[in-house]
Amino acid sequence: MLDDAGKPKIRWFPKLQTACTTTVSDGLVVRTGTQQVDDARTNVVEFLLTSHPLDCPICDKGGECPLQNLTMEHGPGTSRMNYADKIHLDKHVPLGDLIFLDEERCIQCARCVRYQDEIVGDPVLAFYERGRSLQIITVSDPGFDSYFSGNTTDICPVGALTSADFRFGARPWELTNIPSIDPWDAAGSNITLCVRLDRDFDGKAMIKRVMPRQNEAVNEIWISDKARFGHHFTRAADRLQQPVAAGRAVSWQNALTVAADKIKAVGSDIAAIAGPQMSNEDLWALRQLLAGVGSERLGTWPPTHAGADLVAQVGVGVGTNLGSLGKGDAVLVIASDLEEEVPLWRLRVKTAHDRGAYLVVANARPTRLDHFGDECMQYGVGEAAEFMADLAKTPVGKQLAEANNLIIIAGAEGLTLEGSRALMQAAANFLISTDHVGKANNGLMATLPGANGMGQYYMGFLPEATADIMQNPPKLLIVAHADVMADDPNAAEWLSKVETIITLSLFPDGASERAAVALPIQSFAERDGTYTNGERRVQRFYTAQGPMGEALPAWQVIQRLGDMLGQGHAKPSAAAVMLEITHNLPGWAGCRYSELAKVDRQFPDVGGNDLYYGGTAYKNFGGLGVQLASAAEQGKVSEGKVKLPKAATAKLLAIPVTRLYNRERALRASEADILGPRIARPFVEINSADAKKLGIKTGDMVDITMGAASALRAHAHVDGVAPVGTIIVPRNLSETAAPLAPVAIEISKVEG
Ligand code: SF4
Repeated sequence: MLDDAGKPKIRWFPKLQTACTTTVSDGLVVRTGTQQVDDARTNVVEFLLTSHPLDCPICDKGGECPLQNLTMEHGPGTSRMNYADKIHLDKHVPLGDLIFLDEERCIQCARCVRYQDEIVGDPVLAFYERGRSLQIITVSDPGFDSYFSGNTTDICPVGALTSADFRFGARPWELTNIPSIDPWDAAGSNITLCVRLDRDFDGKAMIKRVMPRQNEAVNEIWISDKARFGHHFTRAADRLQQPVAAGRAVSWQNALTVAADKIKAVGSDIAAIAGPQMSNEDLWALRQLLAGVGSERLGTWPPTHAGADLVAQVGVGVGTNLGSLGKGDAVLVIASDLEEEVPLWRLRVKTAHDRGAYLVVANARPTRLDHFGDECMQYGVGEAAEFMADLAKTPVGKQLAEANNLIIIAGAEGLTLEGSRALMQAAANFLISTDHVGKANNGLMATLPGANGMGQYYMGFLPEATADIMQNPPKLLIVAHADVMADDPNAAEWLSKVETIITLSLFPDGASERAAVALPIQSFAERDGTYTNGERRVQRFYTAQGPMGEALPAWQVIQRLGDMLGQGHAKPSAAAVMLEITHNLPGWAGCRYSELAKVDRQFPDVGGNDLYYGGTAYKNFGGLGVQLASAAEQGKVSEGKVKLPKAATAKLLAIPVTRLYNRERALRASEADILGPRIARPFVEINSADAKKLGIKTGDMVDITMGAASALRAHAHVDGVAPVGTIIVPRNLSETAAPLAPVAIEISKVEG
């Protein structure tokens, strides 16, 4: 305020303000160490403890509890309250399938309610009743219906919220925290695998819980529930634990000898298909193995998304942080159900919108992100590229073009591989023509499946090569970490034309059953490696869990095979493989393991000298990774021709879509242990007009027939979100594979 002489002077609030609810603004002066503040803290702690149980010795939060920390620092030491008079409330209240509430421990701070409401945008928690009866309840059906529910167990400042996965599982001080990377999607969320030597795992180090690891540019302090609860596959009893040749378990020496002989016999008539959980080092080793015998046929799996090369050209610039987007900036999300495909991006796009960024969502059908968009636009099925190419002519397109910063996130929903490439090219052209490339917070991102879709591109693996392999099968095919039979209804047919199959996999699967040699490999949790996320950030994960059986890292298996073929000795470590990559791949020189492990100071100072972030997330000791420069940052890039695919003509078209929770092989162990109730029974969505014509009602069982492939049986949902003439088929829900791309189908009701 101004004083009598008209000069500014500080006007103190008459009463104390709570730090956590006061917005910092220019000119604000804060005092945190006065007697009045100290007294208030002591009183608040004493007051909180009047109704807080003294069960620290058995509480999950014990040892990392902000209330415990604050009591030690500011508490009165003695209490004036009568402990016999404490109220007692329910201690095991399920808020949903994944999260439990201990009502007695809740201090009613509203962190969980506000997080769900303000950050996630799923307002599924609320306060109920008043005064001493105040409780946290869930207001969704099913309970606590959110893909980000686990984060509330971290930010709850006491042990009131615990997860079904970890509660009573271990004490925080028994755990060793190993830095890792979320293996499920393109966000590359930084996670911590908290491990303990455990009798349930033969005394080996075992993951007891998964926590976020702070990386403000990638995932801040949040992770999706799939990252948190989807780790059980790493030690599933049905993992492939020994090499198998001709249907029998054999030694590594035998298996590799058979594999090497098979490779020698076919010369260069060999190809490889690699899944997106293969690390950069695994992929490099595989590429070198094939190059050594004269083949460059390297395919990605699943071959659904094209245009990773365009992300390398005009992807978001170095230093990009979705967390810094706000007023004046814009994001376009097209052909993607972002919440299901890359949930962390959906969360960060939503918060960018909250800060004022202009959000446009375009798809052929409504998706969850529509809820947060400023503009939600629908185009005809399969017409994403046309829509994108014409966008510049529309007012919406003009607003995007004129934004200070613009990011386009493109998926491939409803598109063939050609359609996906056309969309990516049209999006790249839009960004180039509006000067939104080659700088931070501008450029193209793609919802490539898995954790290492960009790594696949840099290592030379392309979806178009997979399409060619399916058309012209080689004599020998290496299927690496790719469940081709579960993902493609036609896989049995094209695999049958391959003379020899060699598989590297975590589990026995349809391809390994047909393989001459099936080789067991380690999951991300058992070994070192790197993934390249959708923002082209190369990030390290570290060995955390004890190995399963005789499984080895994929790069090591491949290089030992190469050794037998006279290609040189296997490298001693993943770090040595990366060193070779840095010497050979343009743009990768800065990706040595020592560089990837570097950490800068981050804000907020999680894990620093504070009392209130305890147990919220882990300080980043594993490295922030290195973001590869896009081509646009190193020179000029130019627009390319958009080759529009032929429009599909079919009476009924099946559109495969991604569901976060599904029955993919690696999620089944988590399904049995924890996620089961959250995974939908097999269903397809039908437009009400089509359903009426076909005489199908919600709940009817239907068969979807796709050419020669077997029928996919599922329940029908008739709810109007499927465009007319299409059936939405979620991938990996049923035993039978959904199609890889949109395909003409017939549908029939199963009678009886
Ligand atoms: S965050 Fe924990 S203590 Fe705070 S209201 Fe929610 S359950 Fe209660």
